[in-house]
Amino acid sequence: MKALVAVKRVIDYNVKVRVKADNSGVDLSNTKMSINPFCEIAVEEAVRLKEAGVIDEIIVASIGPKEAQEQIRAALALGADRGVLVQTDEKPYPLQVAKILKGIAEQEGTDIILLGKQAIDDDNNQTGQMLAALMGIGQGTFASKVTVEGGKVNVKREIDGGLQTVALELPAVITTDLRLNEPRYAKLPNIMKAKKKPLDEKTPADFGVTMASNQQIIKVVPPAERSAGVKVASVDELIDKLRNEAKVI
Ligand code: AMP
Repeated sequence: MKALVAVKRVIDYNVKVRVKADNSGVDLSNTKMSINPFCEIAVEEAVRLKEAGVIDEIIVASIGPKEAQEQIRAALALGADRGVLVQTDEKPYPLQVAKILKGIAEQEGTDIILLGKQAIDDDNNQTGQMLAALMGIGQGTFASKVTVEGGKVNVKREIDGGLQTVALELPAVITTDLRLNEPRYAKLPNIMKAKKKPLDEKTPADFGVTMASNQQIIKVVPPAERSAGVKVASVDELIDKLRNEAKVI
């Protein structure tokens, strides 16, 4: 069985986001970029399925600038076998990404397609769902447990107030939630080995996809500054402030 894992290059989650002075977007100059955390969980899950003998090969795909090679190599160091970079300097939107991933999945004949539940830069939470719809296959989103058995995959999903288990025919799309696993750190020898693993370069046009979008970002603004807190000396003072200053009780 083959797995396809989609990894997005995003601003590292530890970095304080800076908005460009003209409010046209986020300033990415001299900023640490990483694999989207949910995609890292997707890579880890594919590697665990390979270690369990369920999957034979893991292909990692990223759609983005040339530099997204770094995130593909990082995934290869975690245990994926080969990578596909679909290079574009345009901002990729979920529908375009889903169309490209569909092209790769069909070319490769992948059985399990793993994505993050959302990318932490744009917070879309759309790509996996669109991919499953375009391919006409099942989807198990927000996965917190994945079990492959007898040509089917059971996905335990995190839903409001509980868990739901769905059984999917393969091929299927799975999107990862935070509790699915804890990704490993890459070992130095594996980082070295990853440099020699195959990495194909493609363009969106190879999959018949144009990057023109029907969506335009009008404005990006940082969150309002929060004012500093104050320490109170007693419960009475706290109640007084809540009643008379904050007017919340
Ligand atoms: P989103 O729908 O944008 O929140 O992204 C959900 C998931 O889709 C991500 O965690 C990735 O697995 C995948 N994805 C989105 N954009 C890309 C991209 N440009 N390259 C590779 N995978 C992507």
